[in-house]
Amino acid sequence: MALQGGCACGSVRYTLTESPLIVHACHCRDCQRLTGSAFVINLWIEKKFVEALGAAPESFMLKGGSGAPHEVFFCGRCGTYVWSRYHPAPGDALFVRAGTLDDPQAVKPDVHIFTRSKLPWLALPKDTRAFESFYKIDEVWSDDSKQRMRWSRWR
Ligand SMILES: [Zn+2]
Ligand SMILES: [Zn+2]
Repeated sequence: MALQGGCACGSVRYTLTESPLIVHACHCRDCQRLTGSAFVINLWIEKKFVEALGAAPESFMLKGGSGAPHEVFFCGRCGTYVWSRYHPAPGDALFVRAGTLDDPQAVKPDVHIFTRSKLPWLALPKDTRAFESFYKIDEVWSDDSKQRMRWSRWR
């Protein structure tokens, strides 16, 4: 799967050369603020599989909800936020915003997280995997993804 995407003005373009490890719908307050919306859809993928084309995104360092650094990357021209890097997340990985894909239908969330701040009018489908905050990677990730990340190294 080689997905492509970019910012609203077209300066920042990227190709994902591998499928994501997992796709999160995150309902935390930071993601709500950053998107101006109810939640964000993030593709968790190793940095080496994200090929940035065109203009290099600029970045800004935020303090995440846990106090850990959260670096957000955005187009310097139009401000579209294309991905982030959560410093406590294992591996050298980026969280690419699915809304910036040329074909956002190509992915759907594997799991909804931080539903404790989910907006109350939003009802998730019944069979959705959802967690009040974060989850245990052991219990949620596919074996393939655990192996790809050599998860055993991080435990
Ligand atoms: Zn742009
Ligand atoms: Zn979030």
